[in-house]
Amino acid sequence: MPVHGTPVDSQPSATPDAVPSRSGLAALPSVDRLLALPQSAALIELHGRTRVVTHLRRSVEARRAALNEALQAGRELGVSDDGAFVATAAAAIEREDQPRLRAVYNLTGTVLHTNLGRALLPDAAVASVIAALGAPTNLEFDLSSGGRGDRDDLIDGILTELTGAEAATVVNNNAAAVLLSLSALAYRREVVVSRGELVEIGGAFRIPDIMARAGARLREVGTTNRTHPTDYTDAIGERTALLMKVHCSNYAISGFTRAVEVQELVPLARQHGVPVAVDLGSGTLVDMSRYGLPHETTVAETVAAGADLVTFSGDKLLGGPQAGLIVGRRDLIRKIKKHPLKRALRVGKLTLAALEPVLKLYRSPELLPQRLTTLRLLSRAPAEIHAQAERLAGPVAAALHALLPGEALTVAPMPCHSQIGSGALPVDRLPSYALCVTPASGKRRARALQAVERLLRGLPRPVIGRIANDALWLDLRCLESEHETAFVAQLQATTQSESRR
Ligand SMILES: *Cc1c(COP(=O)(O)O)cnc(C)c1O
Repeated sequence: MPVHGTPVDSQPSATPDAVPSRSGLAALPSVDRLLALPQSAALIELHGRTRVVTHLRRSVEARRAALNEALQAGRELGVSDDGAFVATAAAAIEREDQPRLRAVYNLTGTVLHTNLGRALLPDAAVASVIAALGAPTNLEFDLSSGGRGDRDDLIDGILTELTGAEAATVVNNNAAAVLLSLSALAYRREVVVSRGELVEIGGAFRIPDIMARAGARLREVGTTNRTHPTDYTDAIGERTALLMKVHCSNYAISGFTRAVEVQELVPLARQHGVPVAVDLGSGTLVDMSRYGLPHETTVAETVAAGADLVTFSGDKLLGGPQAGLIVGRRDLIRKIKKHPLKRALRVGKLTLAALEPVLKLYRSPELLPQRLTTLRLLSRAPAEIHAQAERLAGPVAAALHALLPGEALTVAPMPCHSQIGSGALPVDRLPSYALCVTPASGKRRARALQAVERLLRGLPRPVIGRIANDALWLDLRCLESEHETAFVAQLQATTQSESRR
């Protein structure tokens, strides 16, 4: 990246009796004088006078502060030329204009990385969002009657078609879906949950806390490792609103275990006239095993097993935008939609614009691995990723050597394991390949590793890898071949601009 000039310190003054700091202060230009420079005119054209004045003033003030500080410390700073103040202002404006939310390369090996925004939207959804951004839409307008519509009407048809449920609604995320469902169906009543399913997701979503916020009373049953059907039935009483099952998204309980499956729970619940709610978390709409991935219970299977209500995320395995989907019995969905929190947690038009085309992709399951980005990444063949690693190792090594000439790094294709992420199938690993960047062994290894990690993270499109076993691992699963050229070009461009400095 070009480095704009900062007011440059001239060499310590040659004349012994000069007092450069004082002369520097006296020579500080007025903002008006700077505004008259041709470089300022160009900046004003681009950013407007107000903003340019603000930044010119700041650059003069910063210089004044530096001069004063130097003066107090008995150091000497020279006079800087007017152009340098404008260059400082221009650089500050450029920095300010850098978007805070930026595209990065996710080479962490976690496909659905919550910190990196989870699912990438497929092309059809991107196009739909762009179309909805700048035009009025029929978000809540019934085009057939000309009357007022309900935004859920845009997606409840396809959701019930894909899940077999009677009705559906959508809110901002799955945490909201759970909060809303509990508030609407279990306020001041009891919800029976197994002790083995009191999950915490990413620190902020914890079943006991959500339950309390929803005004529902948690009735824990069973033990951490074993819960039996009678544990649920013994807990059912006057105050029971729901039996609830929660997907163990980010952990697995193994060994001497017993859990009550939905199929088993439903007949018991029916006998007592209590509905069963299932928080599936990731909630997939197709059997992933047909794409060579581990099986995950689908929403349709859960509905078919008799669950009265199912909640799941839009941006985990489903591969869509952040959203919380609720499907289930018509009377329960009606209650949920009438609850005041529904209005507070509703989705915007961009979410719906993205969600509809993603759901529609599921009508052609055999085409999903090409069209649904998340599934395309998850189902990439290790051999293909290996070939890519072989292809990239040379150019990436050359670029890194040029960027960090002192570090003696090696870059080698290495087998590794990706994970699905976002609490989907937490114990399953997908064989993949990485570029493994290893510094020469020795005392400075950790420092070298940090240097290369920081360098990649500081690129215009930051490259995010993973440090493990004294190496930086760049898992290539999420670098699709169409992005490969740009990925290498960025490293090479950085090398050239560094060498020009
Ligand atoms: C991920 C998850 C949630 C929260 O979903 P968000 O869409 O992230 O709000 C809730 N419950 C379970 C079981 C989950 O896995």
